Amino acid sequence: MNSLKDKLNQDARMALQFSYSPYSQKKIGASLVLTNGKTYSGCNIENASYGGTVCAERVAIWKAFSENESSEKITEIVVASDETEPWPPCGFCRQVIAEFATPETLIRLVNLEQKEVSYKFKDLFPEAFKPEHLLKK
Ligand code: ZN
Repeated sequence: MNSLKDKLNQDARMALQFSYSPYSQKKIGASLVLTNGKTYSGCNIENASYGGTVCAERVAIWKAFSENESSEKITEIVVASDETEPWPPCGFCRQVIAEFATPETLIRLVNLEQKEVSYKFKDLFPEAFKPEHLLKK
């Protein structure tokens, strides 16, 4: 393992293998790293009651913030899929990412053939609704 980038790519691709996706047949994995250096991963977990479905990104975020102070920030997220084209976070996930990310958080989308696209969070989700909005008068 040469770098954090390699580790996050491998973690996201490993998580993808645990995807529970009998309805969409879309296997997605995600990994992330926090400012304290801890890494987490998750996969999409679907539910027969579709509203109970949770995307890989949110599973990884729930795992991370159930074990860390909310003052931590996500510095990088990787989303892995076995699709031909990189798989972007849905709008719901972008909103959840906004809670714990910074505008500079790196979002990398990878597939199993080493294809990669990356964005800064501020470019993927500009004008995000943030916790600060609730504090403003
Ligand atoms: Zn999502």
